[in-house]
Amino acid sequence: MLKIDNLHAEVGGTEILKGLSLEIAAGEIHAIMGPNGAGKSTLAYVLGGRDGYEVTGGSATYDGIDLLELAPHERAAAGLFLGFQYPVEIPGVSNVQFLRSALNAQRKVRGEEPLSGAEFLKLAREQASALKMDAEMLKRAVNVGFSGGEKKRNEMVQMGIIDPKLAILDETDSGLDIDALRTVGEGINTIMRQPDKAVLLITHYQRLLDVVKPDFVHVLAGGRIVKTGGANLALQLESEGYEAIAEAA
Ligand code: ADP
Ligand code: MG
Ligand code: MG
Repeated sequence: MLKIDNLHAEVGGTEILKGLSLEIAAGEIHAIMGPNGAGKSTLAYVLGGRDGYEVTGGSATYDGIDLLELAPHERAAAGLFLGFQYPVEIPGVSNVQFLRSALNAQRKVRGEEPLSGAEFLKLAREQASALKMDAEMLKRAVNVGFSGGEKKRNEMVQMGIIDPKLAILDETDSGLDIDALRTVGEGINTIMRQPDKAVLLITHYQRLLDVVKPDFVHVLAGGRIVKTGGANLALQLESEGYEAIAEAA
């Protein structure tokens, strides 16, 4: 589904990704762990097509197409979803307005009919309920005044509504208390643990991986994947730290 080969990327003139390679097949959940400043968020932004993140070498193909040639909205319409480490606040735009226009814009690119207000509201309420988010929050301005945990939960509601093929989730667990972590983790499993979907989960902690069990764990250090293993690698990282493992690699 996603094949990243020898990817190099710069931010503000500094090379951050230095030959990163990674392959993700449908049905798989991959976790990326690594020290602060390793380039994890940069990888997510490059794959999402964020301005200011310049690819200087290598390739990324998604379902056989050149992902890097697509505009961000085309990537989204093709089924790519990005969950941000720091979700943005959008004053004056309600969650419902935002999500309905995002979903319908994607449906349009795919040649599908837009959902009516009533159809959309039904879908949004179902997803909010599945993630134990108060449906009243759907009416509030996107993320404005939401706590860190509420933003992350809201992001998973967005993901449930958008129903992507490939989700790249950047520190979705940060700011979550234990109960929210479980709800969000189970949400990821329900929405994304399917044979035709895949997830790239960026996290610092094992605790999310207790709920969303990864098929592969990668260590990103210094702009590349320096080690790949199974779910046990996350446990090893937690006990030994990144440094020892990055150095041994
Ligand atoms: P991680 O998510 O792994 O903690 P990031 O991808 O956020 O790391 O950052 C990787 C490196 O890129 C860091 O050293 C960071 O300071 C640097 N960086 C991020 N954004 C910019 C920018 N706009 N200009 C220059 N350097 C940046
Ligand atoms: Mg970080
Ligand atoms: Mg980061």
